[in-house]
Amino acid sequence: MNVLILPMLINEFKVHFNKSLIDIYPQNEVNSFFRILTDHFFQWPPTFSVLNPDHRLTAKESNQLSAALLDLIKHKPVQYITQEAFFYNRNFYVDENVLIPRPETEELISWVLDDSKDNGAQRRVLDIGTGSGCIPITLAKEENNFTIDALDISTGALEVAKKNAQRHKVEINFFKVDIRESISWPYPLDIMIANPPYVEPDEKNKMLPNVLEYEPHLALFTPHNHPLFYYDKIIELSRTFLKSGGCLYLEINPVHATALATLIKANHFDYIEIRNDIFGKKRMLKALKS
Ligand code: GLN
Repeated sequence: MNVLILPMLINEFKVHFNKSLIDIYPQNEVNSFFRILTDHFFQWPPTFSVLNPDHRLTAKESNQLSAALLDLIKHKPVQYITQEAFFYNRNFYVDENVLIPRPETEELISWVLDDSKDNGAQRRVLDIGTGSGCIPITLAKEENNFTIDALDISTGALEVAKKNAQRHKVEINFFKVDIRESISWPYPLDIMIANPPYVEPDEKNKMLPNVLEYEPHLALFTPHNHPLFYYDKIIELSRTFLKSGGCLYLEINPVHATALATLIKANHFDYIEIRNDIFGKKRMLKALKS
C-alpha cells in the first residue's frame, strides 16, 4: 500500500523542530536556530513563518530543514551547518577546520583598535594561530595603518582564512608555521596578537558536546599539564621579533591569568594589563615590551 505523505506546513514543522530540540538547547536558542536556518537556506525574514503559518514546505525546503535538524540533534554547531559565523558584524566562512569566532575575541580586537586610534603611523602586525582569519581580517578592515601577517599550523585553517580574506577584500600574508619549532621572522613587529589553544585537556568534562565533538582540538587544547605552553612559545618569539615598546595582545584562559602574568613579568615586558570579558572572566591580556 502506498502512503501519501503530504508535505508539512511550516507551522507543523516548527512544532516538530521545537520538540526535537527542546531537551538539548534552551528555548531562545531553538528559536534562533530556526531563524538562522530559514534565513540561510531560503532568505526568509524572521517574521516569515509567523505571517505565513500555512506555507506548505516544498520537498527541497523540507529536506534541507530536516537534514539541519538531524545535525542539531547531534550537537553540530549551527555555524558549521550554515558554514557562516558573524564576527564584528561581518560574515565569515567557517568549517570544522577552524574554531567558530567568539564574542570574547571581538573584545580583544576592540582593545587593539582603541589603542591604535590616534596613532597615524604604519604598523606591522602578526596574528599567531589565525584559524578562520577573523582577527587579522577585522583589523585590516578597521585600521588602514596596519600591515598584517598571520600564521597557523593547519593547512585547512589557512585555506579558510584565505577564503575569508578574499571575501572581505583585504591583503593579508598568510604563512603555514609551527610555532613549536624555532622560527625566524623577517620584519620587526609593532603588534603581536594571539588567541592560542588554552584549554587544558582536564577541562574536557566542563565542555559542551557542540564544542568538544566538532571544533578542532588542535585549536583548543594545550598539552597535558602545560597550560601556558603556547604562551611560552609566543613570549619566546616576541623576545626577538617584537620591537621595544611593541605591544602583545592575548586571549587567555581565566584559570591561568595570574600564572601567565607572572610568566610575562619575568620576561621582557614592563607593563601588563588584564581585562575581563563580557561574561566577567579574565580573558584578555596586554603587555608592553621593555
Ligand atoms: N574560547 C574557546 C572556548 O572556550 C577556547 C579558545 C582557545 O582555546 N583559544 O572554547
